[in-house]
Amino acid sequence: MKRTSRILDGIAIAGQIKAEVAVEVQALVVRGITPGLAVILVGEVPASQIYVRSKVKTCGELGIFSEMLTPPETITTDEMLDLIAALNAREDIDGILIQLPLPKHVNTKRLLEAVSPDKDVDGFHPMNVGRLQSGQPGLAPCTPAGIMEILRRSDLPVAGQNAVIVGRSDIVGKPAAMMLLNASATVTVCHSKTVDLGSVTRKADLLVAAMGRPGFVTAEMVKPGATLIDVGINRITSADEVDEFFPGDEDRAATFAKRGSVVVGDIHPAAFALAGAYTPVPGGVGALTIAMLMQNTVTAAKLRRGISLGNN
Ligand code: NAP
Repeated sequence: MKRTSRILDGIAIAGQIKAEVAVEVQALVVRGITPGLAVILVGEVPASQIYVRSKVKTCGELGIFSEMLTPPETITTDEMLDLIAALNAREDIDGILIQLPLPKHVNTKRLLEAVSPDKDVDGFHPMNVGRLQSGQPGLAPCTPAGIMEILRRSDLPVAGQNAVIVGRSDIVGKPAAMMLLNASATVTVCHSKTVDLGSVTRKADLLVAAMGRPGFVTAEMVKPGATLIDVGINRITSADEVDEFFPGDEDRAATFAKRGSVVVGDIHPAAFALAGAYTPVPGGVGALTIAMLMQNTVTAAKLRRGISLGNN
């Protein structure tokens, strides 16, 4: 029997969230508050430059003030600490984002802990990690928060579902596990030492793949009808791989011919045909991250001033 899988359109959901954030921003502006985001981009990493530019652009579209700081690659940990302290003290800045990765000589953990928890729009500060764990209002990491928005806005059940997350990073896997647990899923977290991964993933009603391995989760590893959330963003650069992942896909072949690469997630595209619902790559989870950053900036502006969060 042929199954029709539902595509969870991250671009459309991100659009809804951004429209709501713009309304929240306007309501704050009326009260004399313009939410502000500072983005620190160290050195000249092309991928980071692209991400930061689109964050700054989206701020502009939603009425959020933004400031980009671009210290050179040679900046020291102490100099970065001074920069962060100055931003922590500024009244017009509600959110501080340090674009990762940082150069190797810089102590990333120390810097992330130096950001005021109230301005930590990435949700990486231990205080916000603790708030998430104990279910208190705070700033939660954007990518897993985006996953929860996709599920909620698509009316997909979470409570009581068997949720399996592949990947245990601090920025995706672990916070996603905590959010799903807080939403009453039964959660299993897998990683590179998990034995017989397929036997675990096949039990998932809700499978989140966040490992950074192109197409690693195959059709044999998923339960028919499951919801598949693909966080992976992997660039493949060989024609053979494009053919393996996307046989007969003319659009992807054309993209490959033009750019020399295409993007594939951590779930093999053949597995999507078995899903009840799934997030495509691109156009799924990735589309939500900036929208959630904008939401966090407004949330930070409100929390800092004791303004009610409303429906957030
Ligand atoms: P990461 O820090 O590299 O973590 C990868 C995780 O996957 C680790 O926990 C690792 O296990 C696990 N893993 C690796 N190989 C495995 C295997 N063969 N079997 C089971 N588990 C395995 O990655 P990340 O930062 O979480 O990112 C994951 C993916 O999401 C990447 O493709 C990244 O580009 C993408 N991403 C997308 C967004 C977005 O949509 N905006 C945001 C962030 C990340 P160990 O802990 O045992 O090493």
